[in-house]
Amino acid sequence: MKITREQLRALLSLVEVTEDTELDCGELLARLPALVERAAPAGALVDVPPEVLQHLRVCVECEEELAVLLEAWRADD
Ligand SMILES: [Zn+2]
Repeated sequence: MKITREQLRALLSLVEVTEDTELDCGELLARLPALVERAAPAGALVDVPPEVLQHLRVCVECEEELAVLLEAWRADD
């Protein structure tokens, strides 16, 4: 099952971002595998730190990397 950009945005929009912390792409990519492993069976992300959400909302490259990891994680089932 492909994750569309819209679905990913919907997932990310579930959590309000109030923090103003900035991550760079390297820091973010290092955190993605742990987040994907914790994803619920439906693929919903849980306990995503606000600074990670913030970065995913502004960085297309990392957003796409997350989509790829989620897809691979689901395909593993
Ligand atoms: Zn990035």
